[in-house]
Amino acid sequence: MNFVFAPHPVTSLPVAGTDQRFPVRRVFCVGRNYADHAREMGALDQAEGREPPFFFTKPADAVVAGAGELSVKYPPQTANLHHEIEMVVALGAGGENVSVEAAKGLIFGYAVGLDLTRRDMQAKAKEKSHPWDMSKGFDQSAVAGEISPVAVSGYPESGRIWLKVNGQVRQEGDLSAMMWKVADIIANLSTLVRLEAGDLIYTGTPAGVGAIVPGDLLEAGVDKVGTLRARIV
Ligand code: MN
Repeated sequence: MNFVFAPHPVTSLPVAGTDQRFPVRRVFCVGRNYADHAREMGALDQAEGREPPFFFTKPADAVVAGAGELSVKYPPQTANLHHEIEMVVALGAGGENVSVEAAKGLIFGYAVGLDLTRRDMQAKAKEKSHPWDMSKGFDQSAVAGEISPVAVSGYPESGRIWLKVNGQVRQEGDLSAMMWKVADIIANLSTLVRLEAGDLIYTGTPAGVGAIVPGDLLEAGVDKVGTLRARIV
């Protein structure tokens, strides 16, 4: 192929316990999937209950992934960078209009992830009904640990999801509190786009999001899935 310059390398995640890597195609994220977080963002009227899931994306090359301590660059144009601990679903197969019952069949595995957010920029975007791309999809905004394949993790629907900053617990929740379960998310998203092998889905964050600064050490985990360590530099 006669490219005008060398194609960029494929973003990939290590698969735990193997020498294989998972090639990333796209990164989808679910907004406000835990009621306690929706409430802390002022976005949930308790009487209303859950709203339909909504999605935003990050570029595949925004992914920073690996085992061990990751180094994540503090982005420009923000004074309020927030952590959001999330379980990440990695798809090993695709489909469109996938049923809730068939959704599990698309899952390759799970990882622990961080949906980093320029909260100040996002607040302005919300105010003006502008898109979220630059508040959510900036360089190194999608952090992820190793993928735990379903053969090891099973299909976790409950279990602790937590994040510490410099040793202090900031976020702590349970997967069972997701308003839209993983199978619902896959089914819904597959009505909007054709899902493909290599797609990652960040499934939302529990309450406790907050600011991080250069030098901070983030440690996070999801029961049955794994852990993640990242240093903000
Ligand atoms: Mn999020």
